[in-house]
Amino acid sequence: RQAQYRRLRNKPSVTKDGVEVTLQMNAGLLVDLPHLAEAGAAGVGLFRTELQFMVASSFPRLHEQQAQYTQILDAAGDKPVTFRSLDVGGDKVLPYLRSIQEENPAMGWRALRLGLDRPGLLRTQIRALLLAAAGRDLKLMFPMVAEVNEFLKARSLVEKELKHLRRHKHEVPDKIRLGVMIEVPSLLFQLPELLQHVDFVSVGSNDLFQFMYAADRGNTRVSDRFDTLGLGFMRALKRIVDATNRAHVPVTLCGELAGQPLAAMALLGLGFRDLSMSPASLGPVKAMVRSLDAGRLAARLQPRLAPGHRDQDIRQFLVQFAEEM
Ligand code: PEP
Ligand code: MG
Repeated sequence: RQAQYRRLRNKPSVTKDGVEVTLQMNAGLLVDLPHLAEAGAAGVGLFRTELQFMVASSFPRLHEQQAQYTQILDAAGDKPVTFRSLDVGGDKVLPYLRSIQEENPAMGWRALRLGLDRPGLLRTQIRALLLAAAGRDLKLMFPMVAEVNEFLKARSLVEKELKHLRRHKHEVPDKIRLGVMIEVPSLLFQLPELLQHVDFVSVGSNDLFQFMYAADRGNTRVSDRFDTLGLGFMRALKRIVDATNRAHVPVTLCGELAGQPLAAMALLGLGFRDLSMSPASLGPVKAMVRSLDAGRLAARLQPRLAPGHRDQDIRQFLVQFAEEM
Protein backbone atom coordinates (compact mmCIF):
# COMPACT_ATOMS: atom_id res chain seq x y z
CA ARG A 1 0.00 0.00 0.00
CA GLN A 2 2.65 2.52 1.06
CA ALA A 3 4.60 1.91 -2.14
CA GLN A 4 1.44 2.22 -4.17
CA TYR A 5 0.67 5.58 -2.58
CA ARG A 6 4.23 6.75 -3.14
CA ARG A 7 3.88 6.00 -6.84
CA LEU A 8 0.78 8.19 -6.89
CA ARG A 9 2.69 11.13 -5.48
CA ASN A 10 3.44 12.77 -8.79
CA LYS A 11 0.33 11.59 -10.59
CA PRO A 12 -2.37 14.20 -11.20
CA SER A 13 -5.30 14.23 -8.86
CA VAL A 14 -8.03 14.00 -11.47
CA THR A 15 -11.13 11.83 -11.47
CA LYS A 16 -11.86 9.30 -14.19
CA ASP A 17 -14.29 11.76 -15.77
CA GLY A 18 -11.70 14.54 -15.82
CA VAL A 19 -12.58 16.59 -12.73
CA GLU A 20 -9.51 18.20 -11.20
CA VAL A 21 -9.35 18.02 -7.43
CA THR A 22 -6.88 20.00 -5.33
CA LEU A 23 -5.49 18.00 -2.44
CA GLN A 24 -3.69 20.00 0.20
CA MET A 25 -2.31 19.13 3.60
CA ASN A 26 -2.77 20.39 7.13
CA ALA A 27 0.30 21.39 9.12
CA GLY A 28 1.24 23.13 12.33
CA LEU A 29 5.02 23.11 12.67
CA LEU A 30 8.05 23.44 10.43
CA VAL A 31 8.76 19.70 10.76
CA ASP A 32 5.52 19.01 8.88
CA LEU A 33 6.64 20.84 5.75
CA PRO A 34 8.78 18.09 4.15
CA HIS A 35 5.51 16.16 3.79
CA LEU A 36 4.46 18.66 1.10
CA ALA A 37 6.86 17.06 -1.35
CA GLU A 38 6.73 13.55 0.14
CA ALA A 39 2.97 13.32 -0.03
CA GLY A 40 2.64 15.37 -3.20
CA ALA A 41 0.29 17.95 -1.67
CA ALA A 42 -0.67 21.02 -3.70
CA GLY A 43 -0.19 23.34 -0.74
CA VAL A 44 -0.85 23.77 2.97
CA GLY A 45 -4.60 24.24 3.20
CA LEU A 46 -4.53 24.78 6.96
CA PHE A 47 -1.55 25.93 8.96
CA ARG A 48 -2.50 25.81 12.64
CA THR A 49 -0.40 28.65 14.05
CA GLU A 50 -1.27 27.83 17.67
CA LEU A 51 1.17 24.90 17.69
CA GLN A 52 4.15 27.27 17.97
CA PHE A 53 2.42 28.97 20.90
CA MET A 54 1.55 25.71 22.63
CA VAL A 55 5.10 24.34 22.60
CA ALA A 56 6.63 27.64 23.80
CA SER A 57 7.20 28.48 27.48
CA SER A 58 6.34 32.13 27.03
CA PHE A 59 4.48 34.14 24.45
CA PRO A 60 6.47 34.03 21.18
CA ARG A 61 7.67 37.54 20.36
CA LEU A 62 7.09 39.32 17.10
CA HIS A 63 10.46 38.37 15.62
CA GLU A 64 10.06 34.74 16.74
CA GLN A 65 6.68 34.50 15.06
CA GLN A 66 7.99 36.21 11.97
CA ALA A 67 10.96 33.84 11.79
CA GLN A 68 8.69 30.80 11.97
CA TYR A 69 6.31 32.08 9.26
CA THR A 70 9.26 32.97 7.03
CA GLN A 71 10.63 29.44 7.42
CA ILE A 72 7.23 27.96 6.61
CA LEU A 73 6.84 30.05 3.46
CA ASP A 74 10.42 29.31 2.40
CA ALA A 75 9.88 25.58 2.91
CA ALA A 76 6.64 25.67 0.93
CA GLY A 77 8.36 27.39 -1.99
CA ASP A 78 5.89 27.90 -4.84
CA LYS A 79 3.10 26.10 -3.04
CA PRO A 80 0.46 28.22 -1.28
CA VAL A 81 0.10 28.23 2.51
CA THR A 82 -3.15 29.18 4.24
CA PHE A 83 -2.34 30.40 7.72
CA ARG A 84 -4.99 30.34 10.38
CA SER A 85 -4.80 32.96 13.10
CA LEU A 86 -4.30 31.78 16.65
CA ASP A 87 -6.96 29.30 17.80
CA VAL A 88 -6.25 29.11 21.53
CA GLY A 89 -8.32 29.50 24.62
CA GLY A 90 -10.97 27.09 25.73
CA ASP A 91 -9.29 23.70 26.01
CA LYS A 92 -6.09 24.76 24.22
CA VAL A 93 -4.56 26.41 27.24
CA LEU A 94 -1.34 28.39 27.06
CA PRO A 95 0.36 28.08 30.45
CA TYR A 96 1.65 31.65 30.22
CA LEU A 97 -1.68 33.18 29.21
CA ARG A 98 -3.98 33.75 32.13
CA SER A 99 -7.04 31.63 31.45
CA ILE A 100 -10.40 31.62 33.08
CA GLN A 101 -12.29 28.56 34.24
CA GLU A 102 -15.02 27.90 31.71
CA GLU A 103 -17.83 25.37 31.85
CA ASN A 104 -17.95 24.99 28.08
CA PRO A 105 -14.49 25.86 26.81
CA ALA A 106 -15.19 24.85 23.21
CA MET A 107 -17.94 27.42 23.12
CA GLY A 108 -16.07 29.86 25.24
CA TRP A 109 -13.55 32.63 24.99
CA ARG A 110 -11.30 31.24 22.30
CA ALA A 111 -9.85 31.80 18.86
CA LEU A 112 -10.92 35.03 17.16
CA ARG A 113 -13.08 35.99 20.14
CA LEU A 114 -9.98 36.17 22.28
CA GLY A 115 -8.07 37.82 19.42
CA LEU A 116 -10.60 40.63 19.07
CA ASP A 117 -10.74 41.21 22.83
CA ARG A 118 -6.94 41.24 23.08
CA PRO A 119 -6.10 42.98 19.84
CA GLY A 120 -2.48 43.38 20.89
CA LEU A 121 -1.96 39.62 20.52
CA LEU A 122 -3.72 39.39 17.20
CA ARG A 123 -2.05 42.48 15.79
CA THR A 124 1.37 41.12 16.68
CA GLN A 125 0.58 37.90 14.88
CA ILE A 126 -0.79 39.74 11.86
CA ARG A 127 2.29 41.96 11.75
CA ALA A 128 4.56 38.90 11.89
CA LEU A 129 2.65 37.31 9.01
CA LEU A 130 2.73 40.48 6.90
CA LEU A 131 6.48 40.84 7.44
CA ALA A 132 7.16 37.17 6.70
CA ALA A 133 5.14 37.30 3.48
CA ALA A 134 6.74 40.55 2.24
CA GLY A 135 7.12 40.38 -1.52
CA ARG A 136 4.99 37.24 -1.79
CA ASP A 137 1.38 36.12 -1.27
CA LEU A 138 -0.28 35.93 2.13
CA LYS A 139 -3.37 33.84 2.74
CA LEU A 140 -4.84 34.19 6.23
CA MET A 141 -8.08 32.91 7.69
CA PHE A 142 -9.83 33.43 10.99
CA PRO A 143 -11.25 30.63 13.16
CA MET A 144 -14.53 30.47 15.09
CA VAL A 145 -16.23 33.34 13.31
CA ALA A 146 -19.93 33.40 14.25
CA GLU A 147 -20.93 36.73 12.74
CA VAL A 148 -19.83 38.61 9.64
CA ASN A 149 -18.93 41.59 11.77
CA GLU A 150 -16.15 39.64 13.48
CA PHE A 151 -14.47 39.11 10.15
CA LEU A 152 -14.80 42.81 9.32
CA LYS A 153 -13.15 43.71 12.63
CA ALA A 154 -10.32 41.25 11.98
CA ARG A 155 -9.87 42.63 8.48
CA SER A 156 -9.62 46.15 9.80
CA LEU A 157 -6.79 45.02 12.11
CA VAL A 158 -4.98 43.69 9.06
CA GLU A 159 -5.51 47.01 7.30
CA LYS A 160 -4.19 48.93 10.30
CA GLU A 161 -1.06 46.79 10.45
CA LEU A 162 -0.54 47.16 6.73
CA LYS A 163 -0.77 50.92 7.00
CA HIS A 164 1.67 50.92 9.89
CA LEU A 165 4.22 48.84 7.99
CA ARG A 166 3.93 50.97 4.87
CA ARG A 167 4.39 54.12 6.93
CA HIS A 168 7.61 52.66 8.30
CA LYS A 169 8.78 51.72 4.80
CA HIS A 170 8.56 47.99 5.29
CA GLU A 171 8.01 45.80 2.30
CA VAL A 172 4.54 44.19 2.44
CA PRO A 173 2.99 41.17 0.69
CA ASP A 174 2.25 41.45 -3.03
CA LYS A 175 -1.16 40.03 -2.51
CA ILE A 176 -3.25 39.40 0.61
CA ARG A 177 -6.26 37.12 0.69
CA LEU A 178 -8.36 36.96 3.84
CA GLY A 179 -10.80 34.19 4.61
CA VAL A 180 -13.03 32.70 7.24
CA MET A 181 -13.38 29.21 8.63
CA ILE A 182 -16.93 28.01 8.51
CA GLU A 183 -17.16 26.09 11.75
CA VAL A 184 -19.93 27.79 13.71
CA PRO A 185 -23.38 26.86 12.37
CA SER A 186 -24.67 30.43 12.60
CA LEU A 187 -22.57 31.25 9.54
CA LEU A 188 -24.66 28.85 7.43
CA PHE A 189 -27.45 31.39 7.69
CA GLN A 190 -25.29 34.39 6.83
CA LEU A 191 -23.54 33.03 3.78
CA PRO A 192 -24.71 35.63 1.24
CA GLU A 193 -23.49 38.46 3.47
CA LEU A 194 -20.28 36.71 4.47
CA LEU A 195 -19.36 35.81 0.91
CA GLN A 196 -19.55 39.44 -0.17
CA HIS A 197 -16.58 40.23 2.03
CA VAL A 198 -14.22 37.26 2.09
CA ASP A 199 -11.66 36.15 -0.49
CA PHE A 200 -12.14 32.49 0.41
CA VAL A 201 -13.69 30.20 3.00
CA SER A 202 -12.61 26.92 4.54
CA VAL A 203 -14.98 24.51 6.23
CA GLY A 204 -13.76 23.32 9.63
CA SER A 205 -15.88 20.20 9.65
CA ASN A 206 -14.66 19.04 13.08
CA ASP A 207 -16.08 22.03 14.88
CA LEU A 208 -19.00 22.53 12.51
CA PHE A 209 -20.17 18.99 13.22
CA GLN A 210 -19.59 19.27 16.96
CA PHE A 211 -21.66 22.45 17.17
CA MET A 212 -24.39 21.36 14.75
CA TYR A 213 -25.00 18.12 16.60
CA ALA A 214 -24.18 19.46 20.05
CA ALA A 215 -21.72 16.58 20.39
CA ASP A 216 -18.37 17.29 22.03
CA ARG A 217 -15.67 16.20 19.55
CA GLY A 218 -13.39 15.18 22.42
CA ASN A 219 -15.92 13.04 24.26
CA THR A 220 -16.07 9.56 22.75
CA ARG A 221 -19.41 8.85 24.43
CA VAL A 222 -21.04 11.31 22.04
CA SER A 223 -18.51 12.14 19.33
CA ASP A 224 -19.32 9.01 17.29
CA ARG A 225 -22.98 8.97 18.15
CA PHE A 226 -24.12 10.85 15.07
CA ASP A 227 -23.15 10.18 11.48
CA THR A 228 -20.97 12.77 9.77
CA LEU A 229 -22.29 11.36 6.49
CA GLY A 230 -25.88 11.69 7.64
CA LEU A 231 -28.54 13.76 5.94
CA GLY A 232 -28.31 16.82 8.18
CA PHE A 233 -24.59 17.36 7.81
CA MET A 234 -24.55 16.53 4.10
CA ARG A 235 -27.22 19.14 3.50
CA ALA A 236 -25.30 21.72 5.51
CA LEU A 237 -22.18 21.10 3.44
CA LYS A 238 -24.16 21.22 0.19
CA ARG A 239 -25.53 24.58 1.21
CA ILE A 240 -21.98 25.87 1.59
CA VAL A 241 -20.84 24.50 -1.79
CA ASP A 242 -23.85 25.98 -3.57
CA ALA A 243 -23.53 29.39 -1.94
CA THR A 244 -19.79 29.65 -2.62
CA ASN A 245 -20.24 28.58 -6.24
CA ARG A 246 -22.96 31.17 -6.74
CA ALA A 247 -20.76 33.86 -5.22
CA HIS A 248 -17.60 32.63 -7.03
CA VAL A 249 -15.74 32.38 -3.74
CA PRO A 250 -13.18 29.56 -3.43
CA VAL A 251 -14.02 26.96 -0.79
CA THR A 252 -11.86 24.31 0.87
CA LEU A 253 -12.73 21.77 3.54
CA CYS A 254 -9.95 21.17 6.06
CA GLY A 255 -11.48 19.07 8.84
CA GLU A 256 -10.80 15.38 9.44
CA LEU A 257 -13.59 14.37 7.05
CA ALA A 258 -11.43 15.35 4.09
CA GLY A 259 -8.91 12.66 4.98
CA GLN A 260 -11.32 9.72 5.11
CA PRO A 261 -11.64 8.29 1.60
CA LEU A 262 -15.37 7.50 1.84
CA ALA A 263 -16.16 10.93 3.28
CA ALA A 264 -13.85 12.63 0.78
CA MET A 265 -15.79 10.84 -1.95
CA ALA A 266 -19.03 12.22 -0.51
CA LEU A 267 -17.52 15.72 -0.47
CA LEU A 268 -16.64 15.44 -4.16
CA GLY A 269 -20.18 14.25 -4.82
CA LEU A 270 -21.48 17.38 -3.11
CA GLY A 271 -19.26 19.54 -5.31
CA PHE A 272 -16.15 20.25 -3.22
CA ARG A 273 -13.02 20.46 -5.40
CA ASP A 274 -10.42 21.41 -2.81
CA LEU A 275 -9.68 19.36 0.31
CA SER A 276 -7.01 19.69 2.97
CA MET A 277 -6.05 16.76 5.19
CA SER A 278 -3.27 15.24 7.26
CA PRO A 279 -0.33 14.21 5.05
CA ALA A 280 -0.85 10.48 5.68
CA SER A 281 -4.32 10.67 4.13
CA LEU A 282 -3.19 12.13 0.81
CA GLY A 283 -2.27 8.81 -0.79
CA PRO A 284 -5.51 6.98 0.04
CA VAL A 285 -7.63 9.98 -0.92
CA LYS A 286 -5.79 10.46 -4.20
CA ALA A 287 -6.27 6.79 -5.03
CA MET A 288 -10.01 7.29 -4.46
CA VAL A 289 -10.09 10.44 -6.60
CA ARG A 290 -8.39 8.72 -9.52
CA SER A 291 -10.85 5.86 -9.50
CA LEU A 292 -13.97 8.02 -9.16
CA ASP A 293 -16.60 8.99 -11.71
CA ALA A 294 -17.53 12.28 -10.02
CA GLY A 295 -20.35 13.12 -12.40
CA ARG A 296 -22.05 9.81 -11.84
CA LEU A 297 -21.68 10.11 -8.08
CA ALA A 298 -23.12 13.63 -8.01
CA ALA A 299 -26.07 12.56 -10.14
CA ARG A 300 -26.87 9.74 -7.74
CA LEU A 301 -26.01 11.41 -4.44
CA GLN A 302 -27.57 14.82 -4.78
CA PRO A 303 -31.19 13.72 -5.37
CA ARG A 304 -30.96 11.82 -2.09
CA LEU A 305 -30.58 15.11 -0.25
CA ALA A 306 -33.91 16.41 -1.52
CA PRO A 307 -36.81 16.44 0.94
CA GLY A 308 -38.93 13.32 0.78
CA HIS A 309 -36.48 11.08 -1.09
CA ARG A 310 -37.38 7.51 -0.21
CA ASP A 311 -33.80 6.45 0.52
CA GLN A 312 -31.92 8.92 2.66
CA ASP A 313 -29.39 6.55 4.20
CA ILE A 314 -26.49 8.42 2.67
CA ARG A 315 -23.69 6.36 4.21
CA GLN A 316 -25.14 3.09 2.98
CA PHE A 317 -25.51 4.54 -0.50
CA LEU A 318 -21.90 5.77 -0.47
CA VAL A 319 -20.56 2.41 0.66
CA GLN A 320 -22.48 0.68 -2.10
CA PHE A 321 -21.36 3.19 -4.70
CA ALA A 322 -17.74 2.78 -3.60
CA GLU A 323 -18.00 -1.00 -3.88
CA GLU A 324 -19.44 -0.80 -7.38
CA MET A 325 -16.68 1.59 -8.31
C1 PEP B 1 -12.00 22.03 12.29
O1 PEP B 1 -12.60 22.47 13.28
O2 PEP B 1 -12.50 21.23 11.48
C2 PEP B 1 -10.60 22.44 12.02
C3 PEP B 1 -10.01 22.13 10.90
O3 PEP B 1 -9.94 23.12 13.00
P1 PEP B 1 -9.39 22.41 14.35
O4 PEP B 1 -9.51 20.93 14.14
O5 PEP B 1 -8.00 22.90 14.50
O6 PEP B 1 -10.34 22.96 15.36
MG1 MG C 1 -11.83 24.16 14.39
